Amino acid sequence: MRSMRASAFIRLVTALLAVLAIDLLFFRTLNPLLLAGWSILLALSLSYSHRSVLRGDFIERKTVSVTELRRMQLHALPSALLWSAALIYLSQTAALDDLILFYSVVLLLLVSCATLVAAVPLASIILVGTISIAATIAFILQGSVAMAACSAGIGLLLTFAALQSARHYVSAHLAQIHLNEKSETVSLLLREFEDSGADWLWQIDTARRVTRVSPRFAFALGKDASDIDGMPLLQLVSGDAWQSGNFPPALHELAEKLNRREAFSNMLVPVRIGDRQLWWELSASPRIGEDGSFMGFRGVGSDVTTEQESQEKISHLARFDTLTGLPNRLQLTEALGQAMAESDKWRSRCCFLMIDLDRFKAVNDTLGHPMGDRLLSQVSKRLRGIMSDNELCGRLGGDEFAVVVKDGSDSAYVAQLADRIIDALSRPYEVDQHTLFIGASVGTAIGPRDGHTVEMLMRSADLALYRSKDAGGGAHTWYKPSLHADAEERRVMEMELRKALERGELHLQYQPVVDAVDYTVTGFEALLRWTSAKFGPVSPGKFIPLAEDARLIGPIGEWVLQQACRDAVQFPDMVKMAVNVSVDQLTMPNYLDTVRSALSISGLPTRRLELEVTESIFVRGGMAEKMLSEILDLGVKLSLDDFGTGYSSLGYLRKSRFDTIKVDRSFVQGAAKDVPESIAIIRAVVALADSLGMATTAEGVETEDELRMVQRLGCKKIQGFYFGRPMDFADAKALFSSGGSGLIDAA
Ligand code: C2E
Ligand code: CA
Ligand code: CA
Repeated sequence: MRSMRASAFIRLVTALLAVLAIDLLFFRTLNPLLLAGWSILLALSLSYSHRSVLRGDFIERKTVSVTELRRMQLHALPSALLWSAALIYLSQTAALDDLILFYSVVLLLLVSCATLVAAVPLASIILVGTISIAATIAFILQGSVAMAACSAGIGLLLTFAALQSARHYVSAHLAQIHLNEKSETVSLLLREFEDSGADWLWQIDTARRVTRVSPRFAFALGKDASDIDGMPLLQLVSGDAWQSGNFPPALHELAEKLNRREAFSNMLVPVRIGDRQLWWELSASPRIGEDGSFMGFRGVGSDVTTEQESQEKISHLARFDTLTGLPNRLQLTEALGQAMAESDKWRSRCCFLMIDLDRFKAVNDTLGHPMGDRLLSQVSKRLRGIMSDNELCGRLGGDEFAVVVKDGSDSAYVAQLADRIIDALSRPYEVDQHTLFIGASVGTAIGPRDGHTVEMLMRSADLALYRSKDAGGGAHTWYKPSLHADAEERRVMEMELRKALERGELHLQYQPVVDAVDYTVTGFEALLRWTSAKFGPVSPGKFIPLAEDARLIGPIGEWVLQQACRDAVQFPDMVKMAVNVSVDQLTMPNYLDTVRSALSISGLPTRRLELEVTESIFVRGGMAEKMLSEILDLGVKLSLDDFGTGYSSLGYLRKSRFDTIKVDRSFVQGAAKDVPESIAIIRAVVALADSLGMATTAEGVETEDELRMVQRLGCKKIQGFYFGRPMDFADAKALFSSGGSGLIDAA
């Protein structure tokens, strides 16, 4: 349409000139009125089509429909018909010479039309076709076959030419559009390039030496453009590796691509410039000369160090533990997933070792978290030192670590590994001039045998670990299916225990403690009993730890204390009441009030109450120890229970004003069997207790031999089945009513 408009004026002028020429040439020969009428009609039709091309409403539009375009071209029809009519008319009225003269003018018009309106051949074809046909007919009517053939031939030729030039026009136009688009994109890219400032162009020759170094590229390399021109690209970016030949993999890949003359885009390569490690993103394609020869590479590059570093930092944070630098839970589970997939594939086995530190909480509580953190770092260092290529160790969180053993088919090896871990982690630690003693427990599950999914395997290892902890720590346990059942039982039992107090399923038994010389009952130890509706009688060895874990020990312990005090007032005045207290209770802030109110409600004199605590309170640290001294200030007595089974530090004996040290049953048994260590320990305890003004109670005396032995070793009080089993309150009270003296017949 645009091309039609562009040529509209010249077409109009040519057509009018042709009309004018006809008028001048024929105004004598032809009827002037007819000629004038014809000329006016033609001029009108021409101006009409001219106006419609120039004034149409499509001018402002970008597109024109095909029908619109066709209609526009049909405007050529009236003038074509007028010319044709004139030719036919002439053939009837004028001589052949006149007709030929007329045709010559028409021919001028046809040629101009066929060449000028290249974009829209239809208009030319209508004009050329109609008029040529009319001319041919006119010549035939005149009887000039030669001229007829000539006009027909010219008509065909011109039609063909019109089509041809239209085709050329269109393809040239399309090429132009394409070119425009291209140059627009290029300039856009270039503009962006200039603006961002971070990118540069680079170029190398066939020998991979940089050429025509741009200032930006030189700046990126931290050098002068003139210094580096002609230097090998790899030498410029590889730093020391250029000498050693020890290239990072990405640089290898780059060299490979350059070697193979392959284009590449956004390739991330590590770059060493001076002592700085940078990351570049390079894109390039081979340069091919006009003759098709390879000329090197040309491309762009940008420095993506900051993005890359933050990317690395983020992915590192996501996969590693910040404190210890070990793989974190995420990475461990991934590694375990892989190990399990491998095991499935090769029908082998992998292992998951779960590690928990023993007594870590005590360090954290007593010495503070920063110290705990430093200890954990040391633990992780030792752990890492034990690992081989077959293992991956990491931190699950808190004081929990884990090891994934990729090939765990050799269970002896895994057992050894677990022992090595326990050994290594249990050696003393030096942290800020403190010597710290912690231990480690390990639970191991074998995949896929002990769990088909990562979660199941981890849970199995966790159960095994729990068993190790439960057994007192420092141990390694293999998972076995019964652990699952145990765990389930524990869960149900915990639920039952929650309701035990309100259901009245708890009661106390009292075991007498007698004087080692005259066997009089000096006191009782209150021992808790639970007769569960579901499980029957449950041993305190089982449900007390459960109550501690489930945070039920507070209310349960309070009930025990109140009940024991209430019962104690009914015993003779010189009889003491010993109540077991777990460490968890001592760290409860309101425990002192609990003791006070138990005493005041029952009316038991303070001196008759004795609280039994174990050595673990000293490991638990400050808070519990402070509570002890406050209890002592009330006037309540304290005894140290199970001495010898825990940390057995004689130093602990000095730490608090204990009234009594209770020597554990294992030493009593050992001493009776003449085990030298047992005898030595009882001797030492007795000696120290004597010098500090404390009494010693031998626990668990069952036989006469044991009795004689502990008497000889100097224990002041004795407790055990030999003198009496734990009994119900009524039986305990009866001990005094029968003989009235409370004396138990040792024989
Ligand atoms: P414990 O404080 O060392 O209590 C002594 C345990 O030794 C009792 O076991 C008692 O029945 C047993 N025993 C006494 N004489 C003999 C003997 O001659 N031979 C043998 N083989 N055993 C003897 P029990 O009642 O099963 O209590 C176990 C542990 O449960 C207690 O050890 C104590 O640590 C804890 N416990 C019991 N009642 C309570 C309580 O009310 N509160 C707290 N926190 N712990 C309690
Ligand atoms: Ca006890
Ligand atoms: Ca005991």
